[in-house]
Amino acid sequence: MVQLSTGDMLRAARTSGTGMGKIVADVMDRGELVTDEVVIGLLREQLETTQGTGFIFDGFPRTLAQADSLADLLLEQGQQLDVVIEMQVDDDTLVQRVVNRAKEAEAAGKPVRADDNEASMRIRLMEYYRKTAPLIGYYYAKGRLASINGLGEIEDVQRAIVDVLDEWMAKMIRIFAFAI
Ligand code: AMP
Repeated sequence: MVQLSTGDMLRAARTSGTGMGKIVADVMDRGELVTDEVVIGLLREQLETTQGTGFIFDGFPRTLAQADSLADLLLEQGQQLDVVIEMQVDDDTLVQRVVNRAKEAEAAGKPVRADDNEASMRIRLMEYYRKTAPLIGYYYAKGRLASINGLGEIEDVQRAIVDVLDEWMAKMIRIFAFAI
């Protein structure tokens, strides 16, 4: 599967030096969400030009409007969303993780993300509660939601994700067998 990260797409767009890139950069650095129009436009472009047997959407959708657009985009391509994975992590741990990520990048002489600091992270969390959290109910109601514990080591979280995908695959095989 091909991983499509809207965060990565936006970080590439902001280096373009265009007026749009500058606006996007300011919004991202503050920790706010970029407008649906910009994000959906970038995603559409990638989806239409990327070949793959499947996609992992990373950091997208983050609003109800984006979720509706994604459903339409996939439908246009004769595809659909299989499963949405919610990784549950408490706020203090998230803040600590971005602070650590900034420290590690600095120590390794790598660029530090301008939004990897406590102040921006608090705004990112607020944006999450206001605009993204409603998606949990949205996908739950559609029977697509799987929630996992995002605390612990990378290997533990990875295993939990693989378990969700295995379970989904087994369910699809049962449905397919039933259909034939
Ligand atoms: P991320 O790399 O997913 O942590 O995203 C970094 C920043 O990019 C976010 O704080 C937003 O400013 C912006 N961003 C990424 N994905 C989206 C999205 N789906 N909708 C709106 N803004 C986004």
